[in-house]
Parts: sequence; C-alpha cells; structure tokens
Amino acid sequence: MSKKQKKMLWRILAGTALLVTASLLPLEGIPKLLVFLVPYAVVGWDVIFSAVRNIKNGQIFDENFLMALATVGAFCIAEYPEAVFVMLFYQVGELFQSYAVGRSRQSIAALMDIRPDYANVERDGSLVQIDPDEVAIDEIIVVKPGEKIPLDGIIIEGSSSLNTVALTGEALPQDVTVGNSVTSGCVNINGLLRVQVKSAFGDSTVSKILDLVENASSKKAKTENFITRFAQYYTPCVVIAALMLAVVPPLVLDQGFSQWINRALIFLVISCPCALVISVPLSFFGGIGGASKCGILVKGSNYLEALAKAEIVVFDKTGTLTKGSFNVTALHSANMDEKQLLELAATAESYSDHPISLSLKAAHGAIDKSRVSNVEEISGYGIMADIDGKKVAVGNGKLMDKVGASWHECHKQGTVIHVAINGVYAGHIVISDEPKPDAAAAIAALKKLGVRKTVMLTGDRKAVGEHTAAQLGIDEVYTELLPADKVNMVEKLMQQKSVKGKLVFVGDGINDAPVLSRADIGIAMGGLGSDAAIEAADIVLMDDKPSKIATAMGISSRTLSIVTQNIVFALGVKLLVLILGALGMASMWAAVFADVGVSVIAILNATRALSVKK
Ligand code: ADP
Ligand code: MG
Repeated sequence: MSKKQKKMLWRILAGTALLVTASLLPLEGIPKLLVFLVPYAVVGWDVIFSAVRNIKNGQIFDENFLMALATVGAFCIAEYPEAVFVMLFYQVGELFQSYAVGRSRQSIAALMDIRPDYANVERDGSLVQIDPDEVAIDEIIVVKPGEKIPLDGIIIEGSSSLNTVALTGEALPQDVTVGNSVTSGCVNINGLLRVQVKSAFGDSTVSKILDLVENASSKKAKTENFITRFAQYYTPCVVIAALMLAVVPPLVLDQGFSQWINRALIFLVISCPCALVISVPLSFFGGIGGASKCGILVKGSNYLEALAKAEIVVFDKTGTLTKGSFNVTALHSANMDEKQLLELAATAESYSDHPISLSLKAAHGAIDKSRVSNVEEISGYGIMADIDGKKVAVGNGKLMDKVGASWHECHKQGTVIHVAINGVYAGHIVISDEPKPDAAAAIAALKKLGVRKTVMLTGDRKAVGEHTAAQLGIDEVYTELLPADKVNMVEKLMQQKSVKGKLVFVGDGINDAPVLSRADIGIAMGGLGSDAAIEAADIVLMDDKPSKIATAMGISSRTLSIVTQNIVFALGVKLLVLILGALGMASMWAAVFADVGVSVIAILNATRALSVKK
C-alpha cells in the first residue's frame, strides 16, 4: 500500500469511529448537524474540494460533484448519518480502486523490470561501472553472473546461459557463446561474458520495449472511449433527472418536498458511473499486462480489442513462418570454383541483415568487408555491390533480368540465389529453410478460434512458397511478390473482410514494414533485437513463435468478455436500484451498498484479466 493509500485508510477508520461516536452520543443541547459535520469533514473534505475546483474549471459533472451534491443534500434534509455514510463508503470504493490499479501497475512494472542500472565497461585496462547511457558502440562490457545485460551486443569471450523470461516469457534458459548476439534485459545466469556493444542504450531493445509499454495506455480501446464519452453525457442527464424527481412529483401530487428530495438524492448516489469508468480501462490494462507475461507486447488497448475480431490473417514467409536460417543445399557454378561462388555471394551480402544474407555469411565464415563497395540492397530482388572492381549481383531471377544476365532455373527444391558478375551469369546457390516447429499448429489454432482465412505472401519462388503453404495448411498463397506487391495484395484482401472483421498481417519486419502498418493489426516477430519490427508493428512477439498469435487472440477475447460482463452487470444493477429508488423502494443505505458493491465486484473482475494461462 502506498503512503497516500495508508493516509486514506486512516481517514476512513477515523471517520468511522467518529460516525459511531456521533450516533451513540446522547445529543442534548448540541446541534446534531455540528456533531455529524466532524466525521463528514474528516472523510469527505477532498471530494468537496475537488467538486468546487472542477466547477471553477468548468468541468462540473464528475463523480465528485455527484457525491458532494448527494451528501450536502442529505444534510439539508437532516439525514445526517446517511450523509456521512455515503461519503465514507464512496471513499472505501476509491481506496479499493487505487489499490487495484496500483497492483496491476506493479505487476506490469515487475515484468518489465528489465531496465539495467549500470554497465561494467573496460576502459584503459580497468573495469568501471557507469550508466548504460554513457557506453559507446564497440566498447567492451563485462557482464557477471547474476547481472542484467545492459546493452545489445556480441559475445567476444565466455559462454553462459541467459534467462530471457522478462523479454520472451520463455522460461527455458538460452545457451550462448562467443559470436552469439545478446539482448539487453536478459539476465546472465552463470558464466562471465565479455560483450562488444552494438547499439547505444537509446536504441537498445530494453529502451524500445520500455517506451512501448509506457505508451501503451495512451492508445485507448473503442470501449474505453465510449465509456468516457458515456460518462460525459450520462452525469448531467442524471442530475437533471434527479432535479425533476425532487420537484415535479411534489408539485403534481401536491405532497411535501422532503420525501421526494430524499428519493432524488438516492437516485444521485446510485447513478455514479465509477464502476464502469474504473473497471473498463483496468481490464484492458490487465489484458496488456497478461499478454506481456507471455512475451507478447501490445502497443495499445485498441489493438487488444481489435484482435478478437481477426478474420483474415496474412503471413510473410521467411522469418515469420519459417526459421529464416537457411542451409546451403547445393552450389552450381557456371564458370568458377564452387567455393569462390559462395565467397562472392557472402562478400556481396556483407552489410545486409536479410535472413538470406545472414545464412550465406554463416555458411561461408569470415569475410573481408574491405573488398566491397557501392552496396545497394534492392528489396525483393537482392544485392548489387562492387567487389574487387567488378559489379556483382546476388539475388533472384528478377535481379538477373535487371542486370541482363541469362540465367536458368534450378531443378532442385529450395530458394535459389543467383549470382552474376558484370552482367554475366556465374551460377546459383540453392538454400533451404524449414518451417518453425510451431507454425502448423499456429495455423490450426487460428482456424479453431474462428479466423476465416489464412494467407501467405512471399517474395520467394512459386515452388518454394506453395510447398511451404501446403505443409502448414495455409488457405491461399501468393509468391514472387515485391514489397509493393505485398501492400497491394493486403489491400485486396482488406476488401474481402466483413464490416467488423479485422485483417492481421504477421511479418518479421524485414522488407515488410509498409504492410505491417497498412494492416488493421500488424504483428511483428521481435526477433530479440530486430528494430524495424518493433517500431512498425502494433503487437510484437518477443520469441518469434507464430503460435503466440492464437494466445494473444485468446487473451483479447477474454479481456473483452470481462469488459462486457462488467458493463452489463454494472448498468443492470444500477438500473434496477434506480427504478426502486425513484419508486421510493430503496433507502439511501441500499443505494450506497449498490454503488460501492458494484464497483468492488467490477474491479475484482477486471483484475482477472491480468492472470493468463501460458
Ligand atoms: P519473404 O517475402 O519470403 O520474406 P523477401 O521479400 O525478403 O522474402 O525476399 C524475396 C526474395 O528476394 C527472396 O526470396 C530472394 O530471392 C530475394 N532477396 C531479397 N533480399 C535478398 C538478399 N539480401 N540476398 C539475396 N536475395 C535476396
Ligand atoms: Mg520477410
């Protein structure tokens, strides 16, 4: 409990004691009003204060106003204990709410407890502990067992196991050794690591994730906006209705005012919309928190809300449904040594981060970057570069056509990377990739959750694309697409969905960032460090597992159903007591219990959204 909450608790306890004392005192001679004003002031001064301040600022109708009006009114008709009690209970509800919100915040913060406090940097032969912000790229940091990895980098000495649970939700430690890249925010479990820093702290994975989580609550779900707007119109209506209830029936029926004023006040207390105003955002907040426990980062409640309505899910192939780590399965050269062909291709690819490049480089081993100049990476085609003064093109058939090389298809199954030197065909490298282990299950799970259609888009050749799609049970596949074709395809598919349905695009962020932002919901493979993906997407899967899409959809539906339950329940109970109150069948006590009770139940229900099964 925070300091503020403790203070509130003391005020409530003191107010209760004073209220009991005031009720038991033999009040002779002292005016009752004064005696009850003491506990009222103790518990309610801040509510009255806020109500007055808001009126000054022109924002009249909020719950403070409702409570102030109801309780002052109760004092006016000499219902003293009731007035104090309403305020007391209202404050109990407020305390409860602040506690629940604080708890959800904390659990998200704990989850996101990835911000490193310091980095051990090697400088001038000794180790200094400094702020991660001050470490420069290419400096060497040392990460001891038990420490958080402060910056993204590459291991140059040592091996260890890393705990990545805060980033990916994956409990199994990941073994790393020299040459592997490490991501900030992971915890080094056992070995001492020397790491060469590859990005400044501001660009590190940790900073990106923290930004993302901090900004998530600013993107509101439709339901949240609706509730806010609803409260804006609802409260003035209620006040007017209460006023009419107090004035019209006594005049028409020629009865005394006090009974009807009492009913009007009850009406006011019941109509306070706090249960909704609090519990709806809290549910979405919980859903986002629950998702991040599974390594799913959702950038706003609007995306969480939309995900449950996913109707068409479109996938990129390489790196999304497949592992993106290709093995070289054949080398066919036209006029040179096969080793030379691979060396040429790997050298040309030296500056690219495309999965194909990474695989070719891994297959070849160390390369001499100084031989390469004028590198041009053409999305969906391949690479052009000058090597040893020759113009080398490495890519698909489209690229060969572009440079005017006469190329031919390969009979072998797999992705084919052609090479041309100065426009003359030099041969090709056949590489193959395999589907991620959970890819087929991921597609099946989506179907089960009611996704109408799954589609795969790829820049790879027809045979490879269709083979993969068939293996995974994908409904439609479009191959040999350039990045711009992918955007067009997604726009066409957009027209096939129903009015409320959503189109989801899932990609790895390489060559498909434009599509990620074009789709209703863009989901990216966070790939432990891929920057473009984290930026372009609305939802990021930290562990790159396509099966997490179904998990996220499950969390989305669950959160929505909790929200609906709360709306129906709160409005239902309020409506019932409102009618009873207007008919004079509910007392002020019942009204207070109904209001606070509904809030408490709705909040408790909302906190359920945070707990998800993995
Ligand atoms: P996908 O849609 O499967 O993710 P991309 O759009 O990234 O694939 O690439 C499509 C095709 O373009 C690849 O299959 C490959 O033939 C070619 N290509 C793209 N980038 C490169 C590269 N860096 N090196 C060689 N070929 C490339
Ligand atoms: Mg791709």
